[in-house]
Amino acid sequence: MVAQLSSSACPLDCPDLCSLEVRTEDGRVVEVDGGHRSPLTDGFICGKVRKIAAHLYGPDRVQTPLIRAGAKGTGGFRAATWDEALDLVVGRLREIVGRAGGEAVLPYHYGGSNGWLTEGALASRFFRRLGASNLDRTFCAAATTAATRGLYGVMPGVALEDYVDARLIVLWGVNPSATGIHLVPVIERARAAGARLVVVDPRRTPLARRADLHLAVRPGADLPVALAVIHALFSRGLADDAFLAAHAVEVDELRRRAARWTIEAAAAEAGLAAADLDAFVTLYAAASPAVIRVGWGLERNRNGGGAAAAVLALPAVAGKLGVRGGGYTMSNGDARWAVDPEAAIVAPPAPTRTINMSRIGRALRELDAPRLEALVVYNCNPAATAPDQLAVRAGLCRDDVFVVVHDQVMTDTARCADVVLPATAFLEHRDLRRGYGAMRLYDSPAVATPPGQAWSNTRLFGELLRRMELTRPGDPMTDDELTAAIFASAPEGAVLRARLDADGVAALPGEPRPVPFRDVMPTTTDGKIHLVPAALDAEAPGGLYAYRGDPGTDAYPLALISPALATQISSTFGQLRRKEVAIELSAEDAAARGIVDGDEVRVWNALGEVRCAAAVSADVRPGVVVLPKGLWRHHTRNGHTANALIPDAVADLGGQATYNDARVQVARA
Ligand code: SF4
Repeated sequence: MVAQLSSSACPLDCPDLCSLEVRTEDGRVVEVDGGHRSPLTDGFICGKVRKIAAHLYGPDRVQTPLIRAGAKGTGGFRAATWDEALDLVVGRLREIVGRAGGEAVLPYHYGGSNGWLTEGALASRFFRRLGASNLDRTFCAAATTAATRGLYGVMPGVALEDYVDARLIVLWGVNPSATGIHLVPVIERARAAGARLVVVDPRRTPLARRADLHLAVRPGADLPVALAVIHALFSRGLADDAFLAAHAVEVDELRRRAARWTIEAAAAEAGLAAADLDAFVTLYAAASPAVIRVGWGLERNRNGGGAAAAVLALPAVAGKLGVRGGGYTMSNGDARWAVDPEAAIVAPPAPTRTINMSRIGRALRELDAPRLEALVVYNCNPAATAPDQLAVRAGLCRDDVFVVVHDQVMTDTARCADVVLPATAFLEHRDLRRGYGAMRLYDSPAVATPPGQAWSNTRLFGELLRRMELTRPGDPMTDDELTAAIFASAPEGAVLRARLDADGVAALPGEPRPVPFRDVMPTTTDGKIHLVPAALDAEAPGGLYAYRGDPGTDAYPLALISPALATQISSTFGQLRRKEVAIELSAEDAAARGIVDGDEVRVWNALGEVRCAAAVSADVRPGVVVLPKGLWRHHTRNGHTANALIPDAVADLGGQATYNDARVQVARA
């Protein structure tokens, strides 16, 4: 037996990017624990990855290529060789592209759990040269990214480790106890040193229970709340006029647009006590350093982009930037690594149509000229994660849509495929992984042997490029060549490469960590904060910061939100949860419907219906029900999940999916 201890990093869609220590025996993972190459990881990791052997070697792992053997969507497959499966895929793609054109093919992928080698690189090159339709990736962070870039350009926010210096921490639409556990001990250390904690969230999350102030805002009403705080800061003389004069533009326009929202008006719209919102203004104005952790919960509704922009404007208006631990954190994926991962693609973007991934059900049903005839799905499970689930499943199961899925396990999407190809997991292939919370970059080699015949994205798309005769002389094809192309894209690449060669990990310049407005500045065209950016103003219906009221009706009065589970990364690891899920609702809403804990209930709207158990909870405010995201068919009694109730409408910015904008009714089944 060959035992080995290797270092790696966790690229799953989680801000923490943990450093890992992986013990293998004969190439098989037997133990994973936290490493010490990142100060944020500090030797501990979440249970999801600690138990990853159950995912790698479980019964749902796809071990060979599979070709559909029964009716579409029934999950009947036969094993095939890679040659046979690729012959089928290449033959069908050639026929479709030759007859209907490249735009009849759509790559359908997400990259939340992928690094620079497996997210784009050869896959992007393949689809660009094929002339396929482009995919607009809008499940998460589309609205918040648009808002951040509009206001600040590409600038890293406050490092998570620096929250320890804050005197006030605001968690706005984020639940680190489930989706970024390493921030929790940092917050606790800050609180032990006297920091206050405010949580803005419709749910009473674990940290909301311990907070100094919990604003249980009605879903979709974050925008008036943030604008009311801005208005109060201006009208009470609490704005930092000197900072704004030096570093911001469009100040008067923001002041004017926020003026509509008094504390009382915003509190009424958001279902809050005006005194609580007033207390927040006082706390925020007085504390420094004060940091806002801007989450992704607030973007997933019709007002999400405006809400994110208004929350991001707060540190500018109140003058909280320029000190360690002060400002905001959105996604530090915008941290600047100098080198350009696009350099590995070596093919310009195709001038073809773009399809919003959040509207794939509609696209499969309605698009023509050309119609979508082939979907190649990788790094993604749209049957579980895309809005309007019934339309998505109907589209995937059409006999006239050829569906190829490259995945590690037999997902709900893979069950609808014509061909399933086995994929490596992150411990089984090399990748360049950069954090969007932790400001680290890792070059992580494969540390385990994949079971069966799994291929990495690099190998699969390299083979497709060759078989479809889309390679060009000099193309970088291997992981080494792709890595070299990325580090050759900027003069700083050599230094970064040397650091990775020496330690396997690199930190951003500005150690220990860059401080916004001290070490890093906005990268807008004039280096200023744009409080009402023209491009966002033109994109948002009615203009930036325009508020669209609650979509609830008498028939569907309850706001459905679908936050993350602590045991999954979106739908990843869903095969490991065998337990059914229950919908959480308040005691008041349960009593009004004669529902008691454990009852089977129907949850429905015009799009669909979910049947599951009810869980009466004190953590949910009246008017709101909670069904987690990323569930699979086996988690409910009728095989439909929250996504069956979620419309494919988009937010005001970025084409963002509106997962928290469904309105539903609930009754005993
Ligand atoms: S999922 Fe997050 S917390 Fe868990 S190991 Fe990966 S990076 Fe760390």
